[in-house]
Amino acid sequence: METTLPDDNLPSPPSPLRLRLDAQALADNWRALDRMSGAARAGAAVKADAYGLGVAQVAPALAAAGCRDWFVAHWQEVAELLRHVPADQVAVLHGPINDADVAFAKASGVRPVLNSLAQVARWRAGGGGACHVMVDTGMSRLGLPPAELADPALDGLAIDMVMSHLASADEDTTQNAAQLALFAQARAALPGRRYSLANSAGIALGADFHADLTRPGLALYGGIPRREFATTIRQTAYPEAAVIQVRQLQAGDRIGYNATHVADRPIRAGVIALGYADGYLRCWSGKGRFLFGGKELPVLGRISMDLTIVDLTMAPDCGEGDWLTAAYDPVAASAASGLSQYELFTLLGRRFARFI
Ligand SMILES: *Cc1c(COP(=O)(O)O)cnc(C)c1O
Repeated sequence: METTLPDDNLPSPPSPLRLRLDAQALADNWRALDRMSGAARAGAAVKADAYGLGVAQVAPALAAAGCRDWFVAHWQEVAELLRHVPADQVAVLHGPINDADVAFAKASGVRPVLNSLAQVARWRAGGGGACHVMVDTGMSRLGLPPAELADPALDGLAIDMVMSHLASADEDTTQNAAQLALFAQARAALPGRRYSLANSAGIALGADFHADLTRPGLALYGGIPRREFATTIRQTAYPEAAVIQVRQLQAGDRIGYNATHVADRPIRAGVIALGYADGYLRCWSGKGRFLFGGKELPVLGRISMDLTIVDLTMAPDCGEGDWLTAAYDPVAASAASGLSQYELFTLLGRRFARFI
């Protein structure tokens, strides 16, 4: 028997799971953050596949809005990003952890963020060139400690950007001013073409924190890390799942794994093609909400790996093949699920067809 392998000659049918991205909201969010950054420009943190939303969709939308600076975490995230933006605009936050990373940086033209004297030495041994330097101003994560900034190994380094990262910018805490003070020392110690400190939340801390370039991530995607963003930043991501079966339940019918929900009345239930393998975690069991035609429809029972059961009683016109949209406003969804706004985005799995 002849078979056709699933390749270009046999494209997969359309996914019953899709992630709708609002290109206008993405562009508007970047412009709002760029404006709020005052004299500084806003870049974009697009690590982890643009926080799970899809860098192939997000990067072109932000580039069209005017974004020219891009941050990924892993070297392995560069290739996809370079399909959409120029290499000299791309910074790799984890820096070169081995010679293969250095070789890749040199060959591709993207810029490493050097996080330690060891990375500085590795970069210079590989030929050096334009780079960024991360300074740890008090979160004990990546970056050179202030005490090492006078090290002669840094002399003559071609530093494009001196960076640091705020640990608690989403809170009003003295840690922000403490980090700013250490960053001022780093600026005095290290000659860079540009300086960059603020993430999304840091943009709201005022002009002192803006330096030359801000690095928003969360707020680009619709997250609200501080109330200052509540009126300007808009939701960009709408997870949608198709109803693949409708069934009429009677009072007493058990619903889902371990029968955590038992029908207390006749229920018209829809089974949708979304589960915890897609990042719709079990914390949504009995708690999630889906939207259809202006109606809010509750999740019944446990979330399965690939399936979720929804009460369609309030939406009698909703049937098999129709699409339900998850209630996924970042602030409300975070409060309802206990997940952080960051997790809500980055969890969204590979089975979503991302479209804009
Ligand atoms: C992830 C990240 C950002 C973006 O942070 P948000 O809180 O999402 O705005 C900025 N800078 C660095 C170094 C990061 O790792």
